[in-house]
Amino acid sequence: MNSFRFHNPTQLIFGRNAVDQLGSNIAGYGKSVLLVYGGGSIKQTGLYDKVMAQLRSAGMAVHELAGIEPNPRLSTVHKGIELCRRHGVEFILAVGGGSVIDAAKAIAVGVPYEGDVWDFCMRRARIEKALPLGTVLTLSATGSEMNGNAVITNWEEKQKRSFGSIHAYPQFSILAPELTFTVPANQTAYGSVDMMSHVFEQYFSKTTGTPLQERLCESILQTVVENAPIAVREPENYDARANLMLCGTYALNGGMISVGMENDWASHAIEHEISAIYDIAHGAGLAIVFPNWMKYVYKERIDRFVQYAERVWAIERAGRTDDEMALAGIEATRAFFTSIGAPARLADVGIGSESLDRMAEEAVRFGPIGSFKKLGKDDVRAILEMCL
Ligand code: NAP
Ligand code: FE
Repeated sequence: MNSFRFHNPTQLIFGRNAVDQLGSNIAGYGKSVLLVYGGGSIKQTGLYDKVMAQLRSAGMAVHELAGIEPNPRLSTVHKGIELCRRHGVEFILAVGGGSVIDAAKAIAVGVPYEGDVWDFCMRRARIEKALPLGTVLTLSATGSEMNGNAVITNWEEKQKRSFGSIHAYPQFSILAPELTFTVPANQTAYGSVDMMSHVFEQYFSKTTGTPLQERLCESILQTVVENAPIAVREPENYDARANLMLCGTYALNGGMISVGMENDWASHAIEHEISAIYDIAHGAGLAIVFPNWMKYVYKERIDRFVQYAERVWAIERAGRTDDEMALAGIEATRAFFTSIGAPARLADVGIGSESLDRMAEEAVRFGPIGSFKKLGKDDVRAILEMCL
């Protein structure tokens, strides 16, 4: 196990009707709030009205930025920064899924910065401060509600890049599982793939001597495998939604499940190149990339893949070699993704081989990616070819 420092400052307010606690939690953060939301789901579900009532009860002046895109765009973030500056906004409230929360974070770090917030995504500047933000989560997937990361798309340049900072952690996140009852089956599946992928990025590690972290990872994976099919089948099953919500939050919250371990993140980097150009859902891209990444790298450390097959998928030895065990675990992963309705190949989402070179090149723009196996441009291209 490696040495580590762990600090997660986000308060979670979890449970049915937790939205009723928004007003009391936001009071104390000033008098002026920017409410950030997406394409309209919060108006259809009635959540918008509840949030507005809470903000009024806290005596906040509310400014709004609606229309955050899935795969949120830099141009929209710029609008939010401008609104905050113009109105002297003191707090940002994101109500939505990962895209809305990520856009809110980019606005929060962009307001006090003199240059272009894109500098943070291109590693040209360090984040020194941010406006405080809070979230009301409506989709279980990214963990953005309890981490300091954001992923932003510069649509004009076809680049999707991320930043991370201790200053971008939400002050609080309201997690009311019933808010996810209306998430459609496909987004439920993509979100489940995303949270499993976050665990994979940490679990498939070369670091040794980390049995607790490995079991934390495995327990999240098993809990998603149990609950995602229920949530897809019975969207209003509270326990399934609540368990998925907690899994998503724990899977990527500053590394609690993988402290002292080296992480990988190559599959995320590869997926970001796909959604940068084709604007597909992040979880759909990961469902395509991850099993192929696994096949490409499993020999680097076959014991971890055997353990994965045995513990997460209960695959029995029954005379299988290590290779056969590892591949059976990877196959089970692929079959599970398919069973909940996620795509398996780039062709399933209408993508051909036309941009493979560009995607491979951009994925390694800042150098080789991954740590389980370091991947250069040719490796990324080979994995993308397997995805076709
Ligand atoms: P999302 O892009 O936030 O939302 C996807 C869709 O679901 C939107 O159309 C949204 O509609 C809808 N939706 C959300 N909540 C709903 C509800 N309760 N009922 C009905 N529809 C609902 O999805 P996401 O997977 O959470 O976020 C994906 C983004 O996060 C990607 O850009 C990805 O790269 C990024 N990401 C970030 C992190 C991180 O740590 N920050 C980690 C992984 C991925 P409306 O727009 O109408 O609300
Ligand atoms: Fe992700």
